[in-house]
Amino acid sequence: MLAPYACDPARSRGRRYPQNPAPTRTEFQRDRDRIVHSSAFRRLVYKTQVFLNHEGDLFRTRMTHSLEVAQLGRSMARTLGLNEDLVEAIALAHDVGHTPFGHAGQDALNDCMRDFGGFEHNLQSLRVVDVLEQRYPDYEGLNLCFETREGILKHCSLANARALEAHEPMFADGAGGVGARFLLRQQPSLEAQLCNLADEIAYNAHDIDDGVRSGLITLEQVCEVPLFARFCDEAATEHPHLRANASRKRWLYEAIRRMLSAQVYDLMEATRTAISAHHAQDLCAVRAAPPLVGFSQPMVGEARALKAFLLRALYRHPQVVEKMDAARTVVAELFAAYAHKPQEMAAHGLAFEAASPDSLPRRVADYVAGMTDRFALREHERLTGRRLFA
Ligand code: MG
Repeated sequence: MLAPYACDPARSRGRRYPQNPAPTRTEFQRDRDRIVHSSAFRRLVYKTQVFLNHEGDLFRTRMTHSLEVAQLGRSMARTLGLNEDLVEAIALAHDVGHTPFGHAGQDALNDCMRDFGGFEHNLQSLRVVDVLEQRYPDYEGLNLCFETREGILKHCSLANARALEAHEPMFADGAGGVGARFLLRQQPSLEAQLCNLADEIAYNAHDIDDGVRSGLITLEQVCEVPLFARFCDEAATEHPHLRANASRKRWLYEAIRRMLSAQVYDLMEATRTAISAHHAQDLCAVRAAPPLVGFSQPMVGEARALKAFLLRALYRHPQVVEKMDAARTVVAELFAAYAHKPQEMAAHGLAFEAASPDSLPRRVADYVAGMTDRFALREHERLTGRRLFA
């Protein structure tokens, strides 16, 4: 059922450490299973998406976000004839490199690492699956397929791409590793491109949902966004009782559902058009073409307006900013504390390896990045004697 431009697991470019095929699963199904069983994946359940993990049980965490991206991605992949299992594997792993406390944590860690190569969550997701997961007898990491790894590495600076290439194995086809496409200015598979869009569609929708239910933004405010207002009106015209106070949650859900479907249908249509316009009949043509998975031009503008609204009204809401400032302090002080006393990292028997080939700052960054929100808060309190979140 795969389209000719899809990734075929039987023609995977392979793993860093060659392995015999599994008897009952394709290579990409095997990758998906490895990711689901990893400890980095489990920890996503206690990591912040937008709302700090302990603020409420009903908001998205990185785990539920990743599951929503996987669901959306699989559903779109099926329609486009792409490989669903590969999309699922990439989607479930795409955020495993995130620090505690979301982007605030990543910014703080990047500041701490400024003189030591920086910290970037995307690169860290690849590092988690390539190096930091220690589960197999003969190699580091999960030893995933090239196609899964290239999908996880959504973006990468040229300097980082060169550094990555220096450590990539020589694949049988001689075409370079996961950094090569950044140096050659090529695109990843359609499955990887699709995951980026599924990520964006998912968080735009669920951040409206969480934002309104948290009380930080109102339904009326979101209606400043033309895309959302249209579906809000449409839903209430078809179901006038939704305007009643008691039904406002259903109104919110119905408007989000319609908006999400509209974005998915728009993307299907625009992507099919782009694939045929660029004669992308196989993976080689996909890689050489411009990005093919995307919205139509009008939807690009509408999605941009929605993102701008969420940035202004939700991500920069004073209550969110205040918590994120505190989160930055937690991460910076944790980094300083471990860098000063590395033996503190061994206190919990976690992934701290004294014999690691990496520099101390990199090991500290790996350790802090791997923490859940609540473990970071506990450790911060233990090491500094201060509690920054009531
Ligand atoms: Mg994401």
